[in-house]
Amino acid sequence: MIHYFPENRSNPDVYVTQGPDAYDNTQRALGSMDLSGVKGLRVLLKPNVGRPAEPGTAVTTNPEVIAAAIDIFREAGAMVAIGESPIVGVDLEKAYRICGVTQIAQSRNCPLIDMDKRPFVERSIPNGRVINTLQVCADLDDFDLIVSIPVMKMHMHTHVTLSIKNMKGCLWRRSKVKLHMLSPREGDDNKPINIAIADMSSVLRPHLSIIDGSVGMEGLGPSAGTPKELGVVVVSSDPFAADSVACELMGTTAQKTPHLAIAAERGYGIIDMDAIRIHPANWRDWIKPFDIPPHNLEIHFPNIAVLDKKSCSACQSTLLLFLKKYAQELLDYFPNQNQVHIAIGKGHDEIPDNTLCIGNCMFKQKDQGIFVQGCPPVSSEILKTLTDHAKNSA
Ligand code: SF4
Repeated sequence: MIHYFPENRSNPDVYVTQGPDAYDNTQRALGSMDLSGVKGLRVLLKPNVGRPAEPGTAVTTNPEVIAAAIDIFREAGAMVAIGESPIVGVDLEKAYRICGVTQIAQSRNCPLIDMDKRPFVERSIPNGRVINTLQVCADLDDFDLIVSIPVMKMHMHTHVTLSIKNMKGCLWRRSKVKLHMLSPREGDDNKPINIAIADMSSVLRPHLSIIDGSVGMEGLGPSAGTPKELGVVVVSSDPFAADSVACELMGTTAQKTPHLAIAAERGYGIIDMDAIRIHPANWRDWIKPFDIPPHNLEIHFPNIAVLDKKSCSACQSTLLLFLKKYAQELLDYFPNQNQVHIAIGKGHDEIPDNTLCIGNCMFKQKDQGIFVQGCPPVSSEILKTLTDHAKNSA
């Protein structure tokens, strides 16, 4: 990997700024680094704009953080563009607009790239444990320097999502979903998704991380959690060190984050807090512990029993989003019941009658309940199936 920043690789520097203005925080944090090496380079900013969400909801990157990054890299003499490959089924043009990215890009005449437009490039992973190749967006090869700009969030499947995990948004179209569909490895307690992200990080990691902690997300992240204001920005040319400090600011650790711990053990980056040089010295004053994601969805959604046998995280995420939006009205579709059963995964033999069966893995049981096709289906398809079923039963 080429290093453009004159930093100490064994003892990486991480810069944290705090204040009410995300633009100013970002400029100050990046201004602490020596950016002279970026002159004449082509810089790709990779924010999290995976789905449409209003600024301030902590689902996507604060546009002011992106704006500050454009301005400071241009002042340093770089050519800058913004790129994303969104979640499957998301209209990226709409996501850029609703997230406030189109406005800041247009006002600065900064190119906005839909990285799914071109055919993918295959990248092999020589030391991969659960994946051996990746389908990567071709646009990455047009840039010298990749900057990951995630939001500070807890994550249902990966504990947190920060600058390493954000690079999954550089995987081409549906190939992202494949990482959620891997089978567990015999004798390995780690979820396959976490091993896969560590594998991915061996060949796809950013040169620089700018972590947006203006408003983070606690609990049911990455999209159904609760916004939490921190007013911080974290910057480093070692993405593992940046993620480690962001973890601490969220009240957790990189060691508790399997994909970071696995990758660091393999030597891809530094997560040892004793080895990281963090500026300023009083950065711990800004720690605000986040609620961790719940292990049991039923605590959050009473009257709903989730039957999960050998599902993958893609269906779990779909279900979570669906419940977040529609849990209140779900019982209306099951008028004679005081509890609704929902089943996901391929490991079911028996399910209660009238179970809501989500995803193609439930095809075998389709006659025992209400079956929603898809791998995974999206929330609106689940709702449509329920609505159609109610009409047909009336
Ligand atoms: S149907 Fe759901 S659980 Fe089954 S493979 Fe597809 S996304 Fe995963």
